[in-house]
Amino acid sequence: MRYFLASILAILSVFSVPIQSKELTLGQQYFADNARYFANKLPDNVLVFYAPISQEGDMGDTSDCGKQICIRLDPDYNKSLRVARMTLFHEECHAATLGTELDQHGPRWQACMYRLATVGAFADLW
Ligand SMILES: [Zn+2]
Repeated sequence: MRYFLASILAILSVFSVPIQSKELTLGQQYFADNARYFANKLPDNVLVFYAPISQEGDMGDTSDCGKQICIRLDPDYNKSLRVARMTLFHEECHAATLGTELDQHGPRWQACMYRLATVGAFADLW
């Protein structure tokens, strides 16, 4: 009987592995997006994390924070995964165009967002 129960538990544990959450961390999502939508051309020295920045009126921001780029998402404005994914795409386009134009939402950033939309990056988000 003990062997039987151990076998059942072993089988259940094997089958339970794929059932675990499929959600990626923000950093994992950044690198997945980089591979899928940016041909791995986004900076790879990036920290992506939640931080309270809503007092600045932003849902997220991307900045040079020393030896790397920091992408911050405000937890109050990004409570749902869908919103956080859209904010991350927005910030990924900032990472792609960082320091290349005076208006941070200028033509290059807009072209980045437009390209993401046309390749279907937002298909399950809006
Ligand atoms: Zn922006």
